[in-house]
Amino acid sequence: MKKHLTKHFNTKVTPQTEAIPGSNQVPNNAGGYSYEVSDWIKLDRFLILGTEGGSYYVSENKLTKDNCKTLMKCIKEDGKRVVDRIIEISAEGRAPKNDYALYAYAMASTHGNEEVRRYALDNLYRVARIGTHLFHFIEYRESFGGWNRSLRRSVSNWYLNKDVDKLAYQLIKYRQRDGWSHRDLLRLAHPHPTNKKIENLFKWVVGKSYDRDVLPSYIEGFLQIQEVTTPKAAASLIRKYDLPREVVPTDLLNEKLVWEALMEKMPMTAMIRNLANMTRIGLLDNFSEYTNMVVDKLNEKELKDARVHPIQLISALLTYKKGMSDRDSNKSWTPVSKIVDALDDAFYLSFKTIEPSGKNLNLALDVSGSMEWPEIVGVPGLTPRIATAVLAMVSAKVEKNSVITAFGNRYVEVDISRKKTLDSVVQSISSLGMMGTDCSLPITHATAHKWKVDVFSVYTDSETYAGRMHPTQALEQYKQKMGIDAKLIVVGMVANHVSIADPKNPRMLDVVGFDTNTPAVTSEFSRS
Ligand code: CA
Repeated sequence: MKKHLTKHFNTKVTPQTEAIPGSNQVPNNAGGYSYEVSDWIKLDRFLILGTEGGSYYVSENKLTKDNCKTLMKCIKEDGKRVVDRIIEISAEGRAPKNDYALYAYAMASTHGNEEVRRYALDNLYRVARIGTHLFHFIEYRESFGGWNRSLRRSVSNWYLNKDVDKLAYQLIKYRQRDGWSHRDLLRLAHPHPTNKKIENLFKWVVGKSYDRDVLPSYIEGFLQIQEVTTPKAAASLIRKYDLPREVVPTDLLNEKLVWEALMEKMPMTAMIRNLANMTRIGLLDNFSEYTNMVVDKLNEKELKDARVHPIQLISALLTYKKGMSDRDSNKSWTPVSKIVDALDDAFYLSFKTIEPSGKNLNLALDVSGSMEWPEIVGVPGLTPRIATAVLAMVSAKVEKNSVITAFGNRYVEVDISRKKTLDSVVQSISSLGMMGTDCSLPITHATAHKWKVDVFSVYTDSETYAGRMHPTQALEQYKQKMGIDAKLIVVGMVANHVSIADPKNPRMLDVVGFDTNTPAVTSEFSRS
């Protein structure tokens, strides 16, 4: 009789298809129960991972709507905190894409209370740092409400508070986006120029008569390069006026001479994005001095100064390695191994520096079916499953006592040593797919094999259902059997609403995958 009762109801072992009695677990999308993460964690997930492509279970439309509801709740609850959080994540370059920050910012600047709206608009330049950002912001903002005096003032300040040469560079490099141009914005915001030089520049932008002799040199260079027809002439103007790639007439962009000139002062992000192009046209090969320039430039200081996000590097690496363009199969190149290696190294350098925790870490990758979708922030080939492995490598490189393991509805052996290249990591993880999900497996496996684990770091979407007990219960069992009060870190890989970590338990932590701070935060949490 006694057994009959405890078999059906106890708080130590609950199938994942049921909520732990007395807990506040909620249904996840997979038919199991997980914990609901706080709205502020959801905000972080939205800002960093976004909703592009939806998730395995939820359409992009639904996922976006859910996240926007949460965002609105956060704005009502503490709008200033939302604005500060967006600025922090955006300005530090912690998110792969700035779009979600700009979208959230547009919402806060429209739907916050008066103080929040003013605060957001006063600080717009910190989130909209380049022309394209400003256009995106305006486009998003239009979906929440139209122009008003405070928006006009904010946009005016964006133009007026910049040094005139820096502004000129923005004007030629980011000329239009989303159907918006600087001409549109100047006409709508109507800033009052503070001096003759700015006044003349604005006249040029909006198409009024201007004095060419007083234009900033970037504009002069821009005007001249529109007229050239030979690579040699273009290269000479690029050098003379420090012109960016965006102003070069398209038909000259297949010319080696032009890229040589561009390469000399090319901004980091442009360089990373154009490695394939530059290899294809013959500028970069095994022995070229430009290859060495690329390798030298991908150093820690310059990567950090340019706030290069690891996603940009992994994306460049995956594309470059392939030797063929995803968009245009006529475009192919032979990858230069020095560059592949430099991108591999650069990936690790682009995270905030990690101090090793010295603890025993089980870095457990969820390789179940739901982790196959979508491609993270639209990067071809970068599914959550592959991303788990790539991210785990960041910790594995630094943490000597760590092991990478993988699970779906069963535990699988993975062959990932910390000496491996990212490319081979991607290869080994690609073949590991399986359907079901049981997020308690890394813990029960460690219990069964008496592994001494201080921290279980689980990279997952937390859509777990297949286990006979919940991960938190498995952790309690682990503690009973091993005498180790292990911690649980959940590295969230999808912007959904759930986590396997109990938010009430201080020994459990939710972090967001591909937040550049995540490896540092997890190491700190492991150490404490
Ligand atoms: Ca799954």
